[in-house]
Amino acid sequence: MLNLVLFGPPGAGKGTQAIYLKKKYRLIHLSTGDLLRTQIAAKTELGIQAKLFIDKGELVPDELVIGMIKVKLNQCANIKGFIFDGFPRTEEQAKALDVLLNENNTPFSGMLALEVEKQELVDRLLERGQTSGRSDDADVSIIENRIKTYHVKTAPVMDFYAKQKKKYSINGMGGIEDIAQRLNEVVANF
Ligand code: ATP
Ligand code: MG
Repeated sequence: MLNLVLFGPPGAGKGTQAIYLKKKYRLIHLSTGDLLRTQIAAKTELGIQAKLFIDKGELVPDELVIGMIKVKLNQCANIKGFIFDGFPRTEEQAKALDVLLNENNTPFSGMLALEVEKQELVDRLLERGQTSGRSDDADVSIIENRIKTYHVKTAPVMDFYAKQKKKYSINGMGGIEDIAQRLNEVVANF
């Protein structure tokens, strides 16, 4: 089994790179952002709750996100592994993931942390906002809040995995194919 956490600030390219890794290693891609947006589109209770946070550029509360991931993991049997994209985003979520993987007797392979300069993040998100229809990509102040939230709440997750010697930094600047190649050099050794 290969269980990967694809990590990085908003606009780091997690979703883009997950598509490559998923194909190459035949993994199940679990993006909490995508899952939450599906809930919002379906106007479920979870979606209605989540939208209040997402639209402001805040994190959705841990219990909602962890509950959603738990349901997904339990639905999947006989698979080669998962790419977690945009999860965990807090230490609480990282601890919950450890527990869930242990319960399923599934090893954790590693965290791949995409490193991208701040101005590049803002540029990428604003550009995506022109076509994505995502309200959280359209406004500079919301983007700034997402990046700030990342530094305050999410960046500490890197220390959590570094302590376990499970953190791998990847340069996330440059062309999509080049970054995919860098990721692959790390994953090929897992
Ligand atoms: P990418 O690197 O793919 O561009 P992104 O940060 O732009 O990533 P998503 O991962 O889709 O976007 O997340 C969008 C929003 O959904 C977040 O700002 C947050 O409000 C909410 N969200 C997604 N995952 C989580 C999570 N694990 N915990 C809390 N909130 C989450
Ligand atoms: Mg994404």
